[in-house]
Formats: sequence, C-alpha cells, structure tokens
Amino acid sequence: MSASSLNLDLHDLGVAALAARLAAGQVSSVEVTRHFLNRIQQQGSLGAFLATDPDASLAQARAADARLAAGERTPLLGVPLAHKDVFVTRDFPTTAGSRMLENYRSPFDATVVGKLAEAGMVTLGKLNCDEFAMGSANENSAYQTVQNPWDTSRVPGGSSGGSAAAVAARLVPAATGTDTGGSIRQPASLTGITGIKPTYGRCSRYGMVAFASSLDQAGPMARSALDCALLLSAMAGPDPDRDSTSLDLPAVDYATDLIATPAGGTSAKPLKGLRIGLPTQFFGAGCAPDVLAAVRGALAEFEKLGATLVDVSLPLTELSIPVYYVIAPAEASSNLSRFDGVRYGHRAAQYTDLNDMYKKSRSEGFGDEATRRIMIGTYVLSHGYYDAYYLKAQKIRRLIAQDFQTAFTQCDVIAGPVSPTVAWKLGEKSDDPVANYLADIYTLSSSLAGLPGMSIPAGFGAHGMPVGLQLIGNYWQEGELLGAAHALQQATDWHRAAPPAAASTRATGDSRA
Ligand code: GLN
Repeated sequence: MSASSLNLDLHDLGVAALAARLAAGQVSSVEVTRHFLNRIQQQGSLGAFLATDPDASLAQARAADARLAAGERTPLLGVPLAHKDVFVTRDFPTTAGSRMLENYRSPFDATVVGKLAEAGMVTLGKLNCDEFAMGSANENSAYQTVQNPWDTSRVPGGSSGGSAAAVAARLVPAATGTDTGGSIRQPASLTGITGIKPTYGRCSRYGMVAFASSLDQAGPMARSALDCALLLSAMAGPDPDRDSTSLDLPAVDYATDLIATPAGGTSAKPLKGLRIGLPTQFFGAGCAPDVLAAVRGALAEFEKLGATLVDVSLPLTELSIPVYYVIAPAEASSNLSRFDGVRYGHRAAQYTDLNDMYKKSRSEGFGDEATRRIMIGTYVLSHGYYDAYYLKAQKIRRLIAQDFQTAFTQCDVIAGPVSPTVAWKLGEKSDDPVANYLADIYTLSSSLAGLPGMSIPAGFGAHGMPVGLQLIGNYWQEGELLGAAHALQQATDWHRAAPPAAASTRATGDSRA
C-alpha cells in the first residue's frame, strides 16, 4: 500500500493503529511525521502549539525508521506525539507557558521525554499550557489562548489545554500532560479524549518544571485507554537518582495486560465483580444536570458489562478546594523563588540595584495567576500564619486521604464527573480566579490523596460539548482503571467521536512555531 493512499486518514489512527502500520512496513515514521506536521501547519493549531521544529522532528523520525529497518519492533516505535511545555526538552524550547522562560533551552530532556524517545516516539513540538501549569482553562498562558476544537469559542480546559486540544483535533495521536490538581483529567473531559493521572510517584518528575512538588504527576493523553496504556508503560518507572519521590516499583506493561483481559470482547460481562463506588458528594446539586445525565449514561454501560454500583461517601470533598489552594500555592511560592533573573529566568533590562533587579525581573516575568499564587503561598507559610493555614491544610489533607481508604473498603474504583460543567466560553471566567478554582471540585481530593485518576469520554452535554467520566483507583491501580476504561471503550463509541474542527480547524497560526 502506498503511503499517499494512507495519508488521507493517518491522523484518524490512534497510537496502537499507527504503531501496527509502522511495524508492518505500510508507512514510514518520516511519512507519518510529515503528515502530522503538515496538518499542524495547514489546519492552524487552535493555539495549541508553542513550538514546532520540523527538522528536529524529521531527524527523530529518520532514526526511528532506521530502528524499524534494523528489525526492531517495540510498541511505540516511530509514532509521533507532542509534549506539554512543562517538560524540558533538548530539541525544542521550554517555556512552561511563562514569559519568565521565554527562549529557554534546556541542556537535557525530562526523564519522561527521554523514556518516550527511547521507546522510539517522535516529538512533533511543544504544547501550550497555563503558566507553570496553574489554571483550569489555559487562559493563563503568557503566549496565547487555546480553543476547544468542539467549539472554538470555548476553552479546552487546563492546564494541559494545548495537549487536550491537539489530541482532540487530531493534530497529534497522543500527548503528555501533567496533573497537579486535575490538569490531565479536566481538559481531557472538556475535549472528549482519554487521559490518566497515575499514582503520585509512578512517573519521574525530573525535568518537569515544578509547580507543587507533592502533587505534580505526569501522564498520557490520547484518544483511547489502550493508547494511554501504551504510553504509560513507557513513561512509568522509578528514577532513584533523579527523583527521590518516584516509587521503587517495577514498570508495568499496561497495554499487554489490557489486551490479555476478557475486556477484549470474548466475555459479555468483562467487568463482572467490579464494584464502582459513587460518592454522594460528587452527584449533588453542584454538578450540572447535563453532565450528571451523561455520567449516569456511562455508568449504566458499566452495569451492562457486569459492574455493580454502590454508594460511598467522601465527606471532606468540599474542603479539598481550600486545602489545595493553600498547599499548592505554598509549594509554588517556594518552587518559583528560583526564577530571580540570576539563576534562572527573565532579567529586566534596566534596574538600579540588586533588589530592584529582582523586583522588576519577577514582575515582568510572572503573569497575574503565578503572582497571585506566590503571594498566597508566601503568606500561608509566613511566621504566625503557618499553623493557622499551611499546617491545618496538611492535617485535612491526611483526613481526605483516609476517607478514600474508607471508601475503598466498599468498592474497587470510584466514579463520578470530572468537571461540574461542560467547557465554558473563552473569557467567561478569566477575571474570576475563584470561579476557576471551584471548577476543580471533583479532581482535587484524589490529587491531595496521591491517587490515580482518569477521564474517559462519556457522551455529550449542553451545547453538544463532551463530558468526561472520572474513574479514581486506589494506589498503584492504574492497570485496573485502564482495564475498566478499555472494557467500556470496547462496548461504546463515545471516544471515537471527532470534533468538527478536526476537519477544518481555525487557522490561528503558531506565534512561536
Ligand atoms: N486547576 C488547578 C490549578 O489551577 C490544577 C492545575 C494542575 O493540575 N496543574 O492549580
């Protein structure tokens, strides 16, 4: 089969399907890479890309083709992806969505980037995100906003909004994301794709620009659970010399486990015996009726596959917002102190003395949300307020984690909505930080507990916008989450729906490409 006869639909193929064609020699990595690069350029990028470099991508693709020609067959060899711009990369600039790091070029690759490259994946570029991953709508990027491909007047979610929009619009088959309080799950939900935040410590944080170190975690975003499983198998694993919080558990082959389970289609009830816990607090008045209806529709499908639904309680859910918005800014204020214009980051052109240089450099380099969080974080850590805010928040964090363990005595996985509403209009909440914070209600508690969680497409809600179903597992249960999601995706088609913009995205150009 000639490559040109495949070119029309290469972008409709997911990671597994592309890998199969590459392995069978039906198409080369250079051809696949060119196809996606052309698509990114011709279709416009919805604001999703902050950097592309076709020469660098094609050099990686040629190397993958050489490995294929030498007979190597690994599950991701030659398949392209793009990285959220908080992962440092040698071949592309890294900004973390901030002016502070404009034109920054890392001398090394993040561990996760290196592992995916070793697996043979080709980098198409760097994806837009909220500044230092702080946000829920991608409107805090210093460079440009990102449009949701289902309706370009709406946000894609955040902070991994570029990753989500690019995957949903089929500009890339898969992307990396990071999730501190929901930034993989929420944009996946708002754009109708699949994303998983692993257990804290499952993937190395080395080379991820730090936001809140006790919460940050890397994960894959793609169109199916199988594709996420393929990526996560390559990304996960201990990194003892470079991230002491990465866990010393052997890497798992999640994808082979998925394919080997009866969810592959032999059994009518592949999820028989699975108890899905529904926290009452996730199904209350705070969630929009259209979102609840879609979530309930997906839960009914799980029941058809043999799962049983049980009620559970996570009584401290509401407190997850104040607790997270004390702890995350506290850690952020400490992490961002390194950007002083001397050791790292932008330096003001004119200043009178050292203090003036720090002040001007930081004022010019940080946007409003990063500045707000530095101020909140510095305040809650300061003498006299530490006990009242930071220490108190840490105590409640522990209680939130304990509530999950109580719930897991009654169920195997927990399910609910990801976001209380479908994607909102660009600009609708951009002047109201608290409105953005409140939208994180269903993702923050599992982040505080360090648990794995994922978002899987569950149909559509108001304005025809996608709705995601959240699955939360106990520690190290990524395989169970992916297995349940895969079973659902074998039986339903929600994850296959393509947005109208996948065919003709608005040509916005890439300001930095
Ligand atoms: N929306 C949350 C915040 O603004 C979560 C961000 C994230 O997970 N990186 O902090």
